[in-house]
Formats: sequence, C-alpha cells, structure tokens
Amino acid sequence: MFMSNTPVTRALFDDVMVPNYAPAPVIPVRGKGSRIWDQNDKEYIDFAGGIAVTSVGHSHPKLVATLKDQGEKLWHIANVMTNEPALRLAKKLTDATFADKVYFANSGGEANEAAFKLARRYAVDHFGEHKNEIIAFEQAFHGRTLFTVSVGGQPKYSAGFGPALEGITHLPYNDIEALEAAISAKTCAIVMEPLQGEGGIIDADPAFIKRARELCDEHNALLVLDEVQTGAGRLGTLYAYQQTDIMPDILTTAKGIGNGFPVAAMLTTTKVAQSLAIGTHGSTYGGNPLACSIAEAVIDIINTPEVLAGVSAKFDRFKAGLEAINSRVPFCEEIRGKGLLIGCALKEEYKGSAAKFLRAAQARGLLVLIAGPDVIRMAPSLLIPDADIDAGLVILEEAVRNVVDS
Ligand SMILES: *Cc1c(COP(=O)(O)O)cnc(C)c1O
Repeated sequence: MFMSNTPVTRALFDDVMVPNYAPAPVIPVRGKGSRIWDQNDKEYIDFAGGIAVTSVGHSHPKLVATLKDQGEKLWHIANVMTNEPALRLAKKLTDATFADKVYFANSGGEANEAAFKLARRYAVDHFGEHKNEIIAFEQAFHGRTLFTVSVGGQPKYSAGFGPALEGITHLPYNDIEALEAAISAKTCAIVMEPLQGEGGIIDADPAFIKRARELCDEHNALLVLDEVQTGAGRLGTLYAYQQTDIMPDILTTAKGIGNGFPVAAMLTTTKVAQSLAIGTHGSTYGGNPLACSIAEAVIDIINTPEVLAGVSAKFDRFKAGLEAINSRVPFCEEIRGKGLLIGCALKEEYKGSAAKFLRAAQARGLLVLIAGPDVIRMAPSLLIPDADIDAGLVILEEAVRNVVDS
C-alpha cells in the first residue's frame, strides 16, 4: 500500500516502475524558460528540451494562461462532437502548410500509425490490394507501436515482439540508386524523416528528397514525411519540407507542437484524406479541446518571422561555440544539424561514449541528449536566451574536458 509519507526518490522508480527506462539519479520538479530545478534545488540549463519537445521553454506564461483558461472551460468530449480549439488549430495548420485536412492524435507514434494506415488504405482504394509496400530507411525512427517500429529502421526496437509487419523495405538513407532500384508498382509509400533525429542527426540531401518525390509521382506512391522531431519550427521553418522545393502527401507532427502537452497531428491533402472515410480510424483523446488549445498557442508563438529567424541565428551561435570548444579540446569530428537540432559526432576515440558526455554535463548542471552511442544531441527551446546558450556551452566545455582527461 502506498503511504502518503513514502518519500518520492529515484529509488522508488526501481520499486514501482516497469524497467524500460533508466532515468537520471535526480528528479526535476520545476522549470522556467530554459532552466530546470531538481528536488535539491540544483539548477540545470536545458539543451535537451525534453527530447525536442519544449519548443517554447518551460512554463511559458502564455501557455500556462491557456492551460488554465481552457482547463476551466472544457477538457474532453470525444469525437462524437467537434470543438472550437481543434477547428482553430486545424485551420492554422492547413493555412501554414501544403495540407488541406488534419487528423489529430496524441503522440508522434500515433500520428505515424495513422499516416501509414492511410497510405496503405489510399493505395488499396485507388490501385488494389497488391499495392501495400512501404519503403523506409535504415536508422529511421517513427515511434514504438508495432507498425511504427516495423517501419523504423532500428532492429533493436522491433526485435523480440513476434513477427514484424510485412511489406516494409529498409534502404540506406540518402542513397538515390537504392531507392530507384527498390521502388515498384507495389510501393504505396516512401516514408522518411527530412533529417534523421534519433538516427544520429543526419540531414537528407536535397537531391534525395527531390528524387523521392519524383519516384512517388512516377509510381503512384505517397511521400510521407515524419516531421515529429523536425517540425514546429525546430529547423528554422515551421516544417522542414518548407526548406525544399517539394511537398509531401502526408506529414506528421508532434513533439514541439504541444510543448509537453501530448498532442500530434497528421496533415494531408483532400484527395488522400478521402481514404480515411467515416469509421476507418479514430482515437478517443485525439483532438481534445485542452490539447488543441495549447498547440494553437504554441503555433501562434512559433510561427512568426522573428522566432523562426531566431532559430537560425541561435544555430550559428551554437555552432561557433561548439567549434571553439572543439578547437581547445578536440572531441568531435563533425558538428552538424540545422536550426535547433544539433549533433556533435564524436571523434573515433570517443565513439560509443556519448552517454558519458551526457552524464558529465548533467552532473555539472547541463542537460543534453544523445542520438545513438556516437552523437551528442542538443534540441533546446526555440526561445532559449543567448545568455543561456553561452552559459550552457561553458558547462559543456567543463564536461568535455572531464571526459577527455579521464
Ligand atoms: C519522437 C519521434 C517519434 C515518436 O513520437 P512519440 O510521441 O514518442 O510517439 C516519431 N518520429 C520521430 C521522427 C520522432 O523523433
């Protein structure tokens, strides 16, 4: 029985939680902007952003006000009725993108699940049952449901859960020839991240995305862009495809649009949307007024020329700072990424030890992420003040020195 005086410590995690995570030894209790404090009131600068989620920082006053305001009006009614925040948010997303139609979900994985189901359903509706093959990429990450781990290109996430879904091919990312060789009349979709996040901060070549678009058109397949991590302004435009000259048929967005409140969306065109006819798919919580009111406020904050231009300026600041550290204490062979999704690919001798750098930074009051064992990843708030970038980089240098000297 849980006693009200049971101390809430990290040790309690091991007692009561399923062991699928290995959280840090400390427990954060509050945050403000790009700073977080733990139970002992130790302060951290946040370059992690809750894995590219807290796009406008912790406890943003406008979002707190929206949460309170909508919280006193209406949280949930289910999709037997529509609601004002969902319709306003859908209008904003369609006005700002290629899309005509929106389907709401609660997480990136769920938005992708809807996207993959729609791509198959559309192909079956228009071309027949044989057209069901999905082309995806090695190292890709699309979520943790059975369909999304099957489309994802990291076998460690799909192994051990029984037979994977059929009809999915994984190709090397950025390999145009492999794509040309693999696509066929049976292909219903090419699914890709415009920049692989979990896979190591690997940008797609413009020529690769362009060729994927052309091949989809030639083979009546849909181009599905997973912008769960790259979207919501993270790369300096509201969506990453807006830096290319192509448009997808389906796009998924989550992480940054809720700033931590679970909300996601799948965007598509009128023609493709018809294949999710009444009753074909759904979600109890998807599009609830509380989540949508918050996402609407997030989009209002992010989708301005000032904030989006600020993302590119902050990238330059990060890059210059990281290069300066690297010139004093060489630790990475490449600093890459775009906007505020930045990767430091470790030098040969530090490969495999990204988590060591993460822990050294955390102990000194800086939160960073990793993207696989060889890459340190940063995905802070798009509004992170320059002073916090500079202060965080000072801590990062101390952490790097500590690991390099050990
Ligand atoms: C995080 C992520 C997902 C999964 O999102 P969840 O909200 O964890 O289900 C899917 N695709 C990409 C590209 C992601 O980065």
